[in-house]
Parts: sequence; structure tokens; C-alpha cells
Amino acid sequence: MKKTSLQFLQAHTNMAKVIGELAPDLLGEGYGDKMLYSLFIETVEQVPIAISITDKKAKILYVNKEFSRVTGYRPEDILGENESLLSDKRTPKEVYRDLWRTISAKKIWRGTLCNRHKSGERYLSDLTIAPMLNESGAITHYIGMHRDITQPYESEKKVINQKLLIESVINSSPIAMVVLDDQDRVILDNHNYKALVSDLDRAEPATYFLKLLRDEMGDLWSQLQSKEQGFNNREFRIESKGSQKIRWFSCAGNWFIENEVNADAFFEQTSKQYLILTITDITRQRRQMEELHIQTLKTIMAEDERVRGIRETLLGAMHQIQMPMNQIRAAEQILRHKRDDQHAGLLQILQQIQKSGEEAVATMQKCIPEILQTAVIPINLNQILHEVLLLNNQRICSNDIEVHWQPLSKLPTILGSENRLRILFKQLIDNAIDAVCESDGPEQRLKITTDTDADLIYVCIEDSGAGIPVEKRAKVFEPFYTTRPMGSNQAGMGLVMAKEIVNQHHGFIEIDPDCDQGCRFKISFPLHKQAFKGVE
Ligand code: FAD
Repeated sequence: MKKTSLQFLQAHTNMAKVIGELAPDLLGEGYGDKMLYSLFIETVEQVPIAISITDKKAKILYVNKEFSRVTGYRPEDILGENESLLSDKRTPKEVYRDLWRTISAKKIWRGTLCNRHKSGERYLSDLTIAPMLNESGAITHYIGMHRDITQPYESEKKVINQKLLIESVINSSPIAMVVLDDQDRVILDNHNYKALVSDLDRAEPATYFLKLLRDEMGDLWSQLQSKEQGFNNREFRIESKGSQKIRWFSCAGNWFIENEVNADAFFEQTSKQYLILTITDITRQRRQMEELHIQTLKTIMAEDERVRGIRETLLGAMHQIQMPMNQIRAAEQILRHKRDDQHAGLLQILQQIQKSGEEAVATMQKCIPEILQTAVIPINLNQILHEVLLLNNQRICSNDIEVHWQPLSKLPTILGSENRLRILFKQLIDNAIDAVCESDGPEQRLKITTDTDADLIYVCIEDSGAGIPVEKRAKVFEPFYTTRPMGSNQAGMGLVMAKEIVNQHHGFIEIDPDCDQGCRFKISFPLHKQAFKGVE
């Protein structure tokens, strides 16, 4: 007889012994019983799971083919040995204690053990042990069924490790990152994103940013989404509750498709679209840029003020010369009408004075510096007013002035010259700060609001100063008129220039007659849609 057949017989003999003890009925004499018996044996023998049957002390009485394949032990190597032969001795004692506690209590035990193959190689065994009871309910044998799960365990561990690696890379990123599914639900996020929750005091910052992005991008959002094209550098200004009140964030996004892994998608591949949204806090960079911008503006404004100063001085001087010149011209005309030889010399002198006076005025006229032409572009007045407030920040803070800055969000644009409008509002805000500082009223307040209707944009600049008496309100827009005491360095040209700039922008400026406390300048401009004829 061949060795393999011997082994098979041996195995069957062992199995028959065990079955004989377990189910003596199966070993009956009838033809049907024999059929059932050999079918049963073949099934256990060929089933692709390692099966062993032991006595109550784990002495191995039977092993199937798969057991030999998984452990490397043939039946003749292992029959009569204890199952502990398979133990790698790395499995903690507590696991065995739990195993025996469970099966001794006639319950099924399931768990993972570290086993050693006959060759010495370790493998992980996913083991189930079931006690076998006799008619009186006593344990007679144990049946053990195990699978080598080393490979799936390694794959699963690799996936987990990769996930941990990805998570730690994402977490160490200085950028807030979040993955959202097609229902805008957060699937994955990092530490920086979680920090945003408290920083911005919003339960789900992603939902907030998604709304901002969709509002800003309009149709472009769904176009990019359908083509899985990303977006970046979408910047948003946000009022937060933290120490930094105004913060700036830059958002970027990328869509990707992932195949579903649930049972529904096993035969029918389905996929889902996800969005990786990154949110970068660019407040510091924005502040630096803003500071640089304000420095540049200060230089431009200083240069403009210098030019304006020269213009005002020369225009003032020309204005003052005009008076005696007119008198000389009148005297000269009187003398000329007299046709009197006696005054011929005086007439000549007067004519000479008049000539050199006119030459002096012409020279001054030539010396008046030109104000540079600036480009006419759509302008958001909120931005201009914000910049002017920043330009005046030092004066506002050092004089402890309370600023109520109430810009209308989404203010339409007007067409105009940025620089001219900046000069206009700087003049009005400078005046307001002066008025507040000079007053000894209970509050030091400056209020600036913007608003709009169908045709116009309104700016109100209001201060808590002494105000301008009703009778002087029209005069303040006249050249060289000032409410300041004589000798002050104010030439009285500021509001003239302000009115000129408003006129150039087809706007209207007035002092609100209804304002009884302090002073309120109301300025209105036509919206961008209106025709605009250029500015100086
Ligand atoms: P052991 O001295 O055998 O026992 C460790 C602990 O188990 C001790 O606390 C002891 O009190 C308790 N214990 C041992 N035998 C009994 C008992 N008869 N009744 C109550 N408590 C007992 N182990 C593996 O490592 N790999 C396997 O694949 C494996 N398969 C098994 C299959 C079956 C069907 C059975 C019944 C057991 C199997 N075991 C297996 C367990 C094995 O028998 C050993 O208990 C284990 O390997 C620990 O061996 P050890 O020599 O380190 O300690």
C-alpha cells in the first residue's frame, strides 16, 4: 500500500474513532449510513479551513488536509501532540487563559493567536474553538478551525499605517485641510482645520467657506466641479472673534473621484466625488501688504499735499495781488481820461507797475504745478475709506477717537480716480478729526457710513465736534474761507478742493441740515452704470 493511502487511512481511522465517540449513529451498518459517513469524512477532509479535533486536554486526535497545508505538520507528525506545539509563545498568557475559560464553560472561543509553522515561520491564526458535548452535556472533545490571516492582516496594517502616515502628514501641514463628500459632509480634516472651528467660532468652517466660494464663483463653481478642475487663490476677509478681529483666508480646492467600497458597489462599480479644500490664513501677509500699500499711499498723498500747498500759496498770492492791481488799473484809467500832462509821469509809472504786476501774475501762473491726471477705473468706496482710516490711524488712536465704521457690504462701484477720491475723503476725515479734537464735548466720535439705492452711492462722514453754524455752511465751500482763527495754517481751500473732486465725479456734497449735533457731510455719487466724463 502506498504511503499516501496509508496516511489517508490513518486519518480516516482517527476521524472514525473521534466520530465513533461523538456520533456513534453515523457508523451504523446500513448502506445509507455508510454513504453519509464517507461524505461527511470527505467534506471535513477537503474543506479549505484547517480543522483539528482534540481531546479535553487539547491532545490532537484528527487534522484535515488544510491543517497540514497551513501548519506544515502531516498527521503522523502531530497526532497525539498538544495544540500548544503550534504556539509561538508570543501570544500573551492572558489570551490562552481566556480561551480555556471560555471553552471550559462550554462556549465558543474566537480569537487570533500567533502560531509557528513546522518550518519555524510565524503566522497569524484566526482560530475558532468549539467544545463538543456528549448526550449528558459533558465536554468530550474540542474542534478547532483556523485560517492563516497573516497576509490580509499585513495588508490591513499597511492600509492603516498608510492612513496614519497620510494623517500625520496632513496634520503637520500649516494649512487647514478638509475632505468633503458630495453632500458637503466632512470626511477627513486636520489639526489646523479643527483649530479654525474655535478661532472663527463656527461649528463647521468648511460649510461657511463653501458658501462664500459658491457665492463668489457663481456658475464657475459647477463648471469646475463637473470637469474636476481645481481652483485656488480665492481670498476672503472674515470678521473673527479672536484677538485678530479681521482675518484673511485664501482657499484652494480640488475635486477627485473615488470608487465606492461598500457591498452595493461589489458587482456594479459606483463612484463618489470628493473635494479637498485647503484654507490658508494669509492675515499676516495681507497686513504686510496693506502696510506697504499704506506707506506708498502716504508718500503719494504727501507729494500731492506738497503740490497742493504750492498751488494754494500761488493762487492765494495771485488772489492778493489782484486787489492792488485792480486799484492801480482804476487809477491809471482815471488819469488817462483826464488827459492831463501834469500827471503824465505818474500815468507812466502806474502803467509800468501794472505791466510788471501782470508779468508777476503770469510768472506765478506758470509756476502753478499741474495735478497729475489719474486713470478712471471702477472704485469701491469702502476700500478707499478703509485706506483713509488706516492713513489716519495714528491720529485717531492718539486722540482716543471712537470710530464707527459702518460700510455697506457689497457696495457697488463708482467710476473715478482713486487718488482724487482718497484726497477728498482724507480732507473730510482730517477736518472731522480736527473738529473732534477741538471740541470739549463728552464724546469723541467719528462715524462713517456707506449706502446705496438704485442710482446713487452715499457716504456720510459725521463727527461729534462743535459743528458749523447754519449761516456759515454755504460759505465753507468758498475759496479762502475758514472757520479757524486767523493765523492758523489752514488756507480755507480744503473744502473747495473737496467740492471740486465731488463735481468731477458728478457727485453732490452738502452739510446735512438735519444734523444738530456736530457736523455731517453727505456725499453722493452716481453708480458705475452712469456716464462719466473723466476727471482731472
Ligand atoms: P499551556 O500550559 O498549555 O496553557 C496555558 C493556559 O491555559 C494556562 O493558564 C492553563 O491553565 C490553561 N489550560 C491549558 N490546558 C487547559 C485545559 N485542558 N483546561 C483548562 N485550562 C487549560 N494554541 C496555540 O498556540 N495555537 C493553536 O492553534 C491552538 N489551537 C488549539 C485548538 C484547540 C481545539 C484547543 C483546545 C486548544 C488550542 N490551543 C492552541 C491552545 C493550546 O492547547 C495551549 O493552551 C496554548 O498553546 C498554550 O500553550 P502553553 O504551553 O504556552 O500553555
